[in-house]
Parts: sequence; C-alpha cells; structure tokens
Amino acid sequence: MVRISYTIDMTQRTPLITLPPEVAERIAAGEVVERPISVVKELVENALDAQAHELRVEVRSGGLHLVRVTDDGYGIPDDELERVYLRHTTSKIRTVEDLSHLHTLGFRGEALASIAAVSELTLLSRPIETEGVSEEQAALFLTLRGGEVTQRGRRARLHGTTATVRDLFYNVPARLKFTSRARTENKHIEHLLECYAVAYPAVRFNLTIDERVALQTSGTGDLVTTLAELYHLPLSELLYPINVSAHEYYKLHGYVGNRVLAQPSRRYAMLFVNGRWVQARALQEALEEGYRGLLPKGMHPLLVLHVDLPPDQVDVNVHPAKTEVRLAREEEVADALKQAVRSMLECSPALPDTVQFPGPVLANQRRLPGPRRRGLHVAESAEGYKAEIAPPATAEVIASLRPLAQLQQAVILAEAPDGSLYLVDQHRAHERIIYEYFRRIYAGSQCNEQAALDSHLLLEPVIVEMKRYQADLLEQRLPMLRGLGLECERFGGHSFLIRSVPNSEGSEQLAAHLQEIAQVAAQDSTDWQDSLLISLSCRSAMRRGRPLSAGEQAALLKTLAEVSAPAVCPHGSPILLHYSRTFLIDKFEW
Ligand code: ADP
Ligand code: MG
Repeated sequence: MVRISYTIDMTQRTPLITLPPEVAERIAAGEVVERPISVVKELVENALDAQAHELRVEVRSGGLHLVRVTDDGYGIPDDELERVYLRHTTSKIRTVEDLSHLHTLGFRGEALASIAAVSELTLLSRPIETEGVSEEQAALFLTLRGGEVTQRGRRARLHGTTATVRDLFYNVPARLKFTSRARTENKHIEHLLECYAVAYPAVRFNLTIDERVALQTSGTGDLVTTLAELYHLPLSELLYPINVSAHEYYKLHGYVGNRVLAQPSRRYAMLFVNGRWVQARALQEALEEGYRGLLPKGMHPLLVLHVDLPPDQVDVNVHPAKTEVRLAREEEVADALKQAVRSMLECSPALPDTVQFPGPVLANQRRLPGPRRRGLHVAESAEGYKAEIAPPATAEVIASLRPLAQLQQAVILAEAPDGSLYLVDQHRAHERIIYEYFRRIYAGSQCNEQAALDSHLLLEPVIVEMKRYQADLLEQRLPMLRGLGLECERFGGHSFLIRSVPNSEGSEQLAAHLQEIAQVAAQDSTDWQDSLLISLSCRSAMRRGRPLSAGEQAALLKTLAEVSAPAVCPHGSPILLHYSRTFLIDKFEW
C-alpha cells in the first residue's frame, strides 16, 4: 500500500463499549448480513469511519469465498480487538441521545458480530498509536469461526485494519441457497464501491473481483476527477455544479450531468445524506420529478448530490442496514432537490456545443481513453466532445438567432452572431412553448380557482369510450381537467362527453386526438397530470409540414427563447442541433 501523508483526527473516537440493553433495545433490530454485498458495505463503512484514506477491497466468487477490506485508518487497540466482535459493541455511540449528533456511518455495533457468526472472520489491526512495540509484533490478529475464536497472534503491519471474511454462510445453507449468482453479486458490489468512491473522492479506492481490478480511484479529493476515473470519460465540461444552502439548515452540493449523459437506469443518480448512500423515497421521487419532461422517458441523469444536514435532523435508526433515513423537514429538502435538478437541466443545452453530428465529426476526433466505460451509456454526440467555450446559455443564443430558411417545412435554419448554424425543430419548439404555458396556468389553477386555462368550445362535442377502471379514475379527475380547459362529463356507462379543450392555436386539431388524451388523463400513475400536459402540448403544437413565413419563424424563435428549457421538448428530445463555427472551419479546412 502506498503511503500518502495526511492526518487522522482521533478526537471523535471513544473507547469501545458494549451498549447496555436499554440502549441496544432502541436500535433498529433486524438482519444486517443478508448477502455478500452487506458484508462489503459494513466493512467499507467501518474503514471510512476509521478515517481511512486508502481502501482496498478484494472479492472472490461473488463474496462467498472471500471478502477482504484493508484500510489505513486509525486501527483497533489490542484490548478492544478482543471484544469488537461481540454484539452491540461499538466505539461510536454510548447512549441513544448520541444518535442525534452522529458523525459516523456505523453505530449499531452489530456488523462484526453478525459477520463473525456466519463465516470465518479474521481481523488484523494495528492501532495508530503503537509506540514502543516492535514492527514485527505491531499488529494483533484474531480469527473467529461461527463466532468462536479459533486463532490469535501477532504480525507486522502498518497502522490500519484488514478484515478478511471467508466461507460466508457456510453454516447457514438456507442463506446460501438464496444468494444470487456470483456475477450478479459482483455487479452490485461494484456499484456499491462506485457510490462510495463518488461520495468520498478524497479516499483512494481499489476493488478487485476475482483478481481483476474492477475499480480504482486516486483519491485526489476532486469529484470530477473521481467520476472521470470511474467512467473513463473526461466529464468536466458535461457536469454542472450544484450548490444550494438554506439558513444553515441544509446544504445541497454536487453535480448534475448534461443531458447527453442521461442513462437508461437510475444507478447513476447517486444521492447521499450526510455522506451516507441512502434510499430516501421522498427525495428520490423529488429528484425524478425534477427531471421529468427534461429527459426522454425512461432516462435518468448522471448526478451526484449530497444533502448535508445537522445530524439531529436525520433519523438513521430506521433500518438495520442503515440504508434508509428519515429527515425532519423532508418536504423542504425534497423541494430544494427538485428545483436544483430542474433548473440545471432546463438550462443544459440539448447537446454539447461542438459535437452534434455523429459520423465525420467523430471520425476525425480522438476516441476517449479508457478500456471500458463501466456500462455508462453515452450519447454518441458526447464522444467527440471537446471544450472550447463554455456552452453559452441556450436562451441567450436562441434570442440572438437570425432565421435564414425553413427546411422540409419542418426545420428552421438559423444563424448565430458568431457565424455558427442552428437547426430548430419547429414542432418540438412549439410543443415546448405550449407545454410550459399549460404547465404554468395549470399550476396556478391548483392554488387559485380563477387561474384556469381558457377553454375552446368544440364545434361538435366528442364522445370517448373508456374501460371500466379508467372511467372511474377519469370521473374523479374531472375537476382537475376543468382547470385545464377540458370540459368533460360522464355520459352514462363508460362514455364521456368532451365539450371543450384548452385554448391555443392548435385547439381544433386536438379534437381528433381526444380518445388518446382521455386515456392519458385516466392513467393509473402518479405522474398522469404531467403526461396529460405533454400529450395536450404535443397534439396542439404545429406539425412538421407546415410552411412558416420569415416572420413566423422569427416569432417562434423569439418565444422559444423565453421558455425555461428551450433546448429540450417535453418528451426529452432535443429541439436544436448546432454546427459550430469551428466545425465549419475544420470541415472546410479553411
Ligand atoms: P459499528 O460500526 O456499528 O460500531 P461494527 O460491528 O461494524 O459496529 O464494529 C464494531 C467496532 O469495531 C467499531 O465501533 C470500531 O470501534 C471497531 N472497528 C471495526 N472496524 C474497524 C476498522 N476498520 N478500523 C477501526 N476500527 C474498527
Ligand atoms: Mg460498522
């Protein structure tokens, strides 16, 4: 292990104690070690709590044959090593009240006991203070099998701890049967380490799985560097920093990736509460609400967000594996998260500045380094991304565009003052404009009866037929539909009569789509309102194939520049494509 210089603050460490029963009883009870990944998680958390700066994790056969975590933390004094594997034994809390000013990841004093009971566990540790002890004798080790000590002795070691777990679940065949295949478990372990590496960028992480290096970070302390190391991509131009704080109550900080980094999985949206990788449903939902409509359906942003709160505002004693937390003012934090993510993605350009077109641009450009991208899906256009100018704020650029022509009656070709070219999809642009208008008025109508959208009375009312479960849902939602200018009433059985639609340029064309719109309004999902607004905007927006005069082109661009997310349609697809000036110079070899 390469040594780096740093300091360890021992002031937070208190001597190990076995919690008295009245304290132990008040700690969330339950199984800590359900799967190999739980072992890795507990050992990694112990190393981080011991202020390790370097952490090596070795896994074999999905963790069933071996899990070894080696750290350079403050170690365990000899007399304590003899007791650490006892239940409810911890150096992190002494009373239940200590939970309200907790600064460590662990506190239950149960992980080592639970691991020791179902495996062969060897703990080798040298405390940071071992003056007067010979180097060869400096570290004590203890091996336990099924919870009983089978061996103890001394070895040479630099300060820190190595926990080796072999033959996991050897004495619990039922658990073995339910452990997933090694490959699946490895994947989860890799993801877990990825999350910790991201949460602790100042710590060097190294994970080997069956002797293959699966992950390695250099612990520079810079999150962007860590992300680049994990995903083998120079991401700095594609990440937007978030920094929000409120009255010393909470602090949100981290990064949200540009839209090109959107992923078809939630695994790259990483949320930490006080340094803890957690599942906090309300926060997760708020995040998703924040990017809904700004990314294609089913896509999720790459984001790393820390929520830091005073420890007494976070209840960590909810779940035995400490993966769930409760926040005192959850709604407020959730709302801040939603706003932060939304505002970042709204101003994120649809595509980075110089890399819009696959093909020739890519062919000449350097491939990104790195053997493998850890499964990170990258939009083709990000591949050749090279930074020149921070990308200008999209709204500003759109406001400065001069329309030149309409292509295929679908796309506006426009020139920016710097000589670059933009292609603007007229349908998507209009859809975004209408969507934001509908959304604004609808939000107003939720808090104020007066603010409903104007309705446009249809020349002929339209009858729509619903399925039975849809009919009941739709009926409950009729008042909300009214706020949108949709006058709708039950017409007997499962039929509904729609008399009016929201007033916009496309009102009459909506009549042809009311069956589809009613289905969306009757969707059995929590985001039905947003889906409905998207459908209404899509069906009201001007179609491709509509000729636009020069004046109409300019008016469309002007209105687009005024919306909050002008680069992306409500379905999450790009509105603009950009040929930068540099691109033209490069391609023409001027
Ligand atoms: P907890 O982390 O909840 O206290 P554990 O069973 O995980 O409970 O660990 C028990 C105790 O062992 C810890 O409180 C800590 O004092 C000590 N310990 C465990 N792992 C390490 C480590 N890697 N470095 C230093 N001390 C450790
Ligand atoms: Mg622990």
